[in-house]
Amino acid sequence: MLRDRLEGELVLPSDPGYGLATQLQNTEYDTVTPAGIAYCHSAKDVLACVRYARDTGVRVHVRSGGHSFNGWSTGGGLVVDLSRMNHVAARAGAVHIGAGVQSLDALDRLKPLGRQIITGTFPTVGQGGFLTGGGLGWQTRRFGVASDRIVSARVVLADGRVVTASAGEHPDLYWALRGGGGGTFGIVTEFELLPVDAPRLTSFETLWSYEDAAEVLTAWQAWAAEGSDDIGTSLVVLPGMFGPGGRPVVKAWGVHLGAPEDLERALDELTERTGTKPVHRETGAPGAYADVMHEALCGSKTVQQCHRTGTHPEAVGHRHPYTRQAYRLTGRAVTRAEAETLLKAWDPDLDGERYLLCIALGGAANRVGRTETAYVHRDAQFLMGYQMATRDAEAAARGPAELQEWADRCDAALAPLATGSYINFPASRTGPGWEADHFGENAPRLRAVKHHYDPDDFFRHAQSIRPEPGRTTETGR
Ligand SMILES: Cc1cc2nc3c(=O)[nH]c(=O)nc-3n(C[C@H](O)[C@H](O)[C@H](O)COP(=O)(O)OP(=O)(O)OC[C@H]3O[C@@H](n4cnc5c(N)ncnc54)[C@H](O)[C@@H]3O)c2cc1C
Repeated sequence: MLRDRLEGELVLPSDPGYGLATQLQNTEYDTVTPAGIAYCHSAKDVLACVRYARDTGVRVHVRSGGHSFNGWSTGGGLVVDLSRMNHVAARAGAVHIGAGVQSLDALDRLKPLGRQIITGTFPTVGQGGFLTGGGLGWQTRRFGVASDRIVSARVVLADGRVVTASAGEHPDLYWALRGGGGGTFGIVTEFELLPVDAPRLTSFETLWSYEDAAEVLTAWQAWAAEGSDDIGTSLVVLPGMFGPGGRPVVKAWGVHLGAPEDLERALDELTERTGTKPVHRETGAPGAYADVMHEALCGSKTVQQCHRTGTHPEAVGHRHPYTRQAYRLTGRAVTRAEAETLLKAWDPDLDGERYLLCIALGGAANRVGRTETAYVHRDAQFLMGYQMATRDAEAAARGPAELQEWADRCDAALAPLATGSYINFPASRTGPGWEADHFGENAPRLRAVKHHYDPDDFFRHAQSIRPEPGRTTETGR
């Protein structure tokens, strides 16, 4: 019995907590019924799961925060859940974190230690998936891709070994774990990270009338790409249901790492470049990194409240409804004509919940070579994409074709600008060229690493790197 071999908890379909245990962040996957969910407490537990799966032939699905857009962390087999492996410690210039720790918990627990790590812009994303896929957010321009700061990772391999991957040990595995995608090479139980020195931050938010959307998108992209690396910023076009007077609205917001007067000057410049004034502009008071990020990610909710509903007695964090999406990375600021095309695809006349989202990248992320880590996108300036959602459970169960058709139209609008795709923001529908699109010239080396560490493709999901057929490789040790 696997249950007897675990320090942690095994939840089976007959157990009362099964429904909750099966959940990912997106409600779409609530219909998936895993054979069991193992809440691991230690690397020993993870190893017991791997051995059990090897012995019985059951598939494993690796899960940390459960935010996979395309449901890659669940399935009909055994979900190996690392959410309880969420420790945080600072030692000798490094930070050690359990792979299951969520962004908001890491920010909160690192605060008294005077060190911080790079997170994305959503509170409950798990570091396990975030880091193995790359890790992008408001700190990207100043501090680089989050996985660039991995010093080492403790990994349970498909053959039952537990190894440390670093520059000196298993260097090819270490390379692959930094952007080659989660659920592919092994189960990371702990990361050692180079922290950032918990700088002070100031948040800002601007809202713009939809009538000015093309000017704002064009100006914001040029402003972000040419501006200081101290600015971390996103832009979203929101539908009428979230805009004043039932009209769509454009929001550009983020955080600034420098002096407040520099931020004010930068926001003046954004207004100047746009040629019109925002309907709303607000800057927060400068504050500690953890506090400002917490406020940006969780608003006034406490850490406990900010978790996904059901996962803690006080948690009220929302889940995401059935969504179809199209995301790409782009390499330069858009022209006015391109902005109009992108907005036309978004379609202001449509009813329904949908977004056009951009996160500014570049800066330090692009001062690393394309093949230095598995994350290849060192020419990307923006993550750009579209999401459309339905909250009608019956419609969602049918998998509404109109959402996918909309996402396909949006994907076609983005394609001429694309330099690649980010494995952590995959499109709902991917074509045969997905591997090159996500990994570029790093794909062959990733296949070789996969072949060396997992020739039987024990760790796999719909878009994981496959082992190179027939290859014998000298890679790794
Ligand atoms: C609402 C939302 C906001 C997001 N915001 C950002 C953002 O700002 N920046 C950004 O870069 N990304 C963002 N993402 C994408 C996010 O980084 C990816 O979905 C990431 O893979 C999620 O990690 P997870 O552990 O939460 O998810 P999971 O679903 O648990 O895992 C995702 C993938 O990683 C694998 N995996 C998980 N844990 C491990 C592990 N310990 N070892 C090996 N493989 C593992 C899984 O098998 C799966 O393939 C966002 C996603 C959502 C849904």
